[in-house]
Amino acid sequence: MKLKPCPFCGSVPDPERCFKFVDGHKWGAVVCCCEGPDVRTHYSDGREWWAEAAEAWNTRVLDTEDVRASVERTFESRIDEMKASNRILIEENQELRNQLRGFGVDA
Ligand SMILES: [Zn+2]
Repeated sequence: MKLKPCPFCGSVPDPERCFKFVDGHKWGAVVCCCEGPDVRTHYSDGREWWAEAAEAWNTRVLDTEDVRASVERTFESRIDEMKASNRILIEENQELRNQLRGFGVDA
């Protein structure tokens, strides 16, 4: 599992060095300049708990790419709404001009 950047320093933890036991061997976590959340290791020296720790880590991390993509989607959606609204205004404006021309007004 790919680790997201650290919420504090922004670096991506090195997967070969960031999985550490915390407070004995019962708990483990991804550790950067901050740590956690802790997950049960079942006292395993192997990598069995690493995926769970990575998943837990990724839930608390602000992924700037996710935020950027979300903001972009919101803006694109709003721009589409505004374009649709603008088309309606242009059509209404044209209709009014046509009506004015019908009254002999140069519009
Ligand atoms: Zn950090």
